Order: sequence, then C-alpha cells, then structure tokens
Amino acid sequence: MITESLNKIINEIPSNVKLIAISKTKSKEEILEAYGHGQRIFGENKVQEMTEKYSSLPKDIKWHMVGHVQSNKIKYMAPYVDLIHGIDSFKSIRTINKEGEKNNRIIKCLLQLKISSESTKFGLEIDELEKIIQSPEYKKLSFVKVCGIMAMASFTTDLELVREEFNIASKLYNRIKKVNSDFQILSMGMSNDYKIAIEAGSNMIRIGSLIFGSRN
Ligand SMILES: *Cc1c(COP(=O)(O)O)cnc(C)c1O
Repeated sequence: MITESLNKIINEIPSNVKLIAISKTKSKEEILEAYGHGQRIFGENKVQEMTEKYSSLPKDIKWHMVGHVQSNKIKYMAPYVDLIHGIDSFKSIRTINKEGEKNNRIIKCLLQLKISSESTKFGLEIDELEKIIQSPEYKKLSFVKVCGIMAMASFTTDLELVREEFNIASKLYNRIKKVNSDFQILSMGMSNDYKIAIEAGSNMIRIGSLIFGSRN
C-alpha cells in the first residue's frame, strides 16, 4: 500500500521536484517500508517524535521539520536536522545560528510565507520576509542559511484560490532567487494540492496521508 502510493507519486512528479514523506504519527515500521522503496527524506512536525525516530532508524535518512517550532526545542534537532521548513521569526533564526555554531554545522531553513488568510496559519508577510534576509544582522550569521520559502494554501475546495495563493509565494521566491543564490527551495504542496503547487513552481512537496493513509 505504502509502496504503491509512493510509486504513483514518484512517477507523476517532475524530476526537479523533491518528495518529502511526512511521517508524523506513523510508526517506524511504516517509515521503513517507504525507506525500503528508496525514500530517504522524511518530515515530522514534533521535535521529540522526530528525534526518537532519528535515533532508531537508518542514519542515511534526512529529517525535515515541517511543524511550527518553539525556539527552545531547536537545540534537540540541531545536531542532525537536514532542513527546518516553518521559520517565521528572527528570534528562531538567531537560535538556529547559535545551535548551529555549537554543533559546528550550518543549519538550513526555509521562511514560512503567509499566503492564506486563515487565522490558523503561521507565517511572515512578504515585507517581513524580505526584511529578514536583507538585514545586516542576518548576513552576519554564519551557522544558519535561509534556502527558500515554505507556504501552505488555504484548506478549501476553491482550487482557484489555492492556485492564486501558491502563485504569490512563487513570485516572491523567483524575485529573491534572482539576487540571492542561497534561494533554491520552494516548499509547497500537500496531499490534496500538490499538483497545483507544482504547476505554480514548487520544487519540494510534503506528502503525508497520500503515502501513509489518513492519520487518526
Ligand atoms: C501534516 C503536514 C503535511 C502533510 O499533510 P498531508 O495532507 O497528510 O499530505 C504537509 N506539510 C505540513 C506543514 C504538515 O504539517
């Protein structure tokens, strides 16, 4: 079941699009099934759960944090995390830099852009996001690297709205990418909207339920 769903997605997405298998709440056995099929990047939304899985699963797995993280939890994943998707404050960037320095590694992250008007969605406004990466303070930080943008569309059946929202993120990403070579990743698209996200220019999709089945 997991293998078939993975196959189906891998076969239909363009080769420049990276698939992150979102394994939150799913067991190690389920993760290993996807691993056995060649999947190497997994995403979680809780630091503790991710760290437990990191400790007991094969070390060539790349772990992505896709949830909203509190600054005080960053230290637990700093030694191993491959990419932190949902950063929406300068405070978190400072903390990532500090923990990166302690671990002597550059930690990659994405800034979350707010493209949905839903109050439940986190994220930065366009001007706030640009201000962070253009600031002299950010430019001095050597142990954190902002590699692009993460965005989540509204949870709606209005697909035109979803498309418009993704286009906002895509436009900003392309504008920044022209002047900032660190910008390589546009993370958007989940189980029910990844096709629209890819059409809008996403090169990283985060798929959970379509691979592993629904979460309880
Ligand atoms: C849970 C989650 C996903 C995956 O959602 P599905 O609808 O199961 O594909 C993607 N991104 C984030 C940030 C998530 O929290």
